[in-house]
Amino acid sequence: MGANVKENVYEILEALPPEVKVVAAAKGQSTLNVVRSVKAGIEIIGENYIKDAKRVYSQIQGRAQLHFIGIPDQAKHDLLRKINLNMFDMIETINSVDIAREINKKCEQIDMVMPVLIEINSGEEEQKSGVLPNDLIDVIKKIAEFNNLEIMGLMTMGSTPHQSMQAKEDRERARKCFQKTKELFDEIKKMQLSNVKMEYLSMGMSNSYKIALKEGANMVRIGSKIYGTRN
Ligand SMILES: *Cc1c(COP(=O)(O)O)cnc(C)c1O
Repeated sequence: MGANVKENVYEILEALPPEVKVVAAAKGQSTLNVVRSVKAGIEIIGENYIKDAKRVYSQIQGRAQLHFIGIPDQAKHDLLRKINLNMFDMIETINSVDIAREINKKCEQIDMVMPVLIEINSGEEEQKSGVLPNDLIDVIKKIAEFNNLEIMGLMTMGSTPHQSMQAKEDRERARKCFQKTKELFDEIKKMQLSNVKMEYLSMGMSNSYKIALKEGANMVRIGSKIYGTRN
């Protein structure tokens, strides 16, 4: 599969408008494949797990950015104690005031301001991480008070399943989630809250990014379409 990484990246970058940021979702990939994707033009690597992020960071440092796209509550111990949070250029998956408070405190200790996205549970699925649409404004106002976090936008996974978007109803369900998230994005942008920049709207994966782009995404997180199926 590795040999195709370069072609896959070329193909994706060529087809996307230049203002759209591509986050290569690298979970389960070898460092070699991650480096291949960076050499082919990927500027942001997204990692779900801290041990993968650490392994990859030393190889891409200075050549590509690193975004955390995993569930912060699960990675909390490592995020807050075992690593230098500095290695991340953005945390895309802030899903509660509590986790924001803890990350803010850590950032204060190491004297950095972390760009973050707020993750929205746009499908309102119980098993999914993210802030519920109805709670968002309240949550954003609270997180905006943390001086060592800078809210840069919103992120969503959309609806399950992600694997097969063949069925029309799956695609339409995904589209509704993206539309909902874009509405919230615009609404919050209009409020012009201090310490809140609605610059990035991260939504869409390998099988849904084309829909997401139509619905206003300017950041897409693509894994299998770059690296092939996960190891
Ligand atoms: C794995 C993952 C992706 C990419 O998924 P693909 O279907 O492989 O493109 C995007 N975002 C997050 C948060 C992920 O965990």
